[in-house]
Amino acid sequence: MSEVSRKEVLDKDKLEELRERLMVTPKLVWDQVDEAEREAILAYAEGYKEFLNLAKTEREAVKEIQRRATEAGFVNLAAGESGPRCYYNYKGKVIALIVRGRRPLTDGLRIVAAHIDSPRLDLKQHPLYEDTDLVFLKTHYYGGIKKYQWLARPLALHGVVLKADGGAVELKVGEDPEDPVFTVLDLLPHLARKTQMEKKVSEAFEGEKLNVLVGSLPLGDKDTKERFKLRLLKYLEDNYGIREEDLISAELEVVPAGPARDVGWDRSLVAAYGQDDRSCAYPALEAILKVQDPEHTCLALFYDKEEVGSDGNTSAKSCLLEEIVELLLEQAGGSPLARRRVLMASRAISADVNGALDPDYPEVHEKRNAARLGYGVCLTKFTGHGGKYMANDANAEYLAWLRRIFNEAGVIWQAAHLGKVDEGGGGTIAKYLAVHGIEIIDSGPPLLSMHSPFEVASKADLYMTFKAFRTFFTAPGQ
Ligand code: MN
Ligand code: MN
Repeated sequence: MSEVSRKEVLDKDKLEELRERLMVTPKLVWDQVDEAEREAILAYAEGYKEFLNLAKTEREAVKEIQRRATEAGFVNLAAGESGPRCYYNYKGKVIALIVRGRRPLTDGLRIVAAHIDSPRLDLKQHPLYEDTDLVFLKTHYYGGIKKYQWLARPLALHGVVLKADGGAVELKVGEDPEDPVFTVLDLLPHLARKTQMEKKVSEAFEGEKLNVLVGSLPLGDKDTKERFKLRLLKYLEDNYGIREEDLISAELEVVPAGPARDVGWDRSLVAAYGQDDRSCAYPALEAILKVQDPEHTCLALFYDKEEVGSDGNTSAKSCLLEEIVELLLEQAGGSPLARRRVLMASRAISADVNGALDPDYPEVHEKRNAARLGYGVCLTKFTGHGGKYMANDANAEYLAWLRRIFNEAGVIWQAAHLGKVDEGGGGTIAKYLAVHGIEIIDSGPPLLSMHSPFEVASKADLYMTFKAFRTFFTAPGQ
């Protein structure tokens, strides 16, 4: 080593400069933002919590998204209306918001696609029964839940009952402080040793025991058959005009009762049910509502059925996206046959959450590549499990572009993967959009207690997710 280079190596300032220039340094959002942006982070969380409270199911989310869009002048594309800003509501469970760009559609779309379904307990078709003078509803859980988290807690019932004459009755019980709530019973610890404590967690809690307690008053006298269930049915008829058979054509979802809350004395965190994936749906909505006269046509998609593998006609595997592109092409005077060219030139964010590093369970995370709460929106190059099975693996060229636009716009972001390689894994809608040739990557905030009835997110990451989506819609680039 020459004298000059040795001197260089010992120079503290020079080393610091080298480190700054060469190494990745995780950036805590709170360290990076000025006072104005700190205020913006806190204000954003207030609107977000309101959305969470209004949109606990996919149907409620679609309704609220459409309400906001209509208020902002979006017209109904499905009804043949034409305008620079439009929406497409499909079956009340999936919705798309579109803002037309200056460039032709064949130059590609900018798509942010989130999902608005969350894990929950759905009612069975014959849900109502009485046992031991108590009335219950049978459920079938939807999505990945840890069953024990649903016991002994206040629950609400949201959804719709379709009568044979086509009339719809909407229910939302358990959210107003004046409302009753429901609950799934749990066993007292004194008697739980053999039935629960000595079993594996996966076996100790059975799906057939996730029955929701809804009443205990009888009708008539002790000779009246099924008088507890009968009283409940009478109540349902008196209050909603529905009979037992109507429950066969219903979609009633049992969800945790109560509003989103701030967590911590410093109020830096939000806890609520359904942040997977409303923490992405809300910023997608907020971002597209703010897009004005973009270069590329922008699309925000809010899908159903992600939590059960994106099957079904309201999922990301459905033909909805192709239909919307064909309609837009037709309205622009182009051939709907150009649909494939439009999609192959498009860029997308699969807007979904990541699991944050949990200090109590470091063993499931690979800490160098784990998402950290407070370090901004995640960019997840690939998902899947095992040897990248079922993964969407975003192209490096695409990631390079995203890094550039985020850095230029001051979006604080982190590159993060879900858990250790052999630990498990998961998928998102990314791979179902990728098959159309769209450039796509998973991106969203990290969550703690993901898929629980009370998921935790950092207000800083929530805001950076919004900033990322807003930047993505309008950033220059092919
Ligand atoms: Mn998700
Ligand atoms: Mn999920």
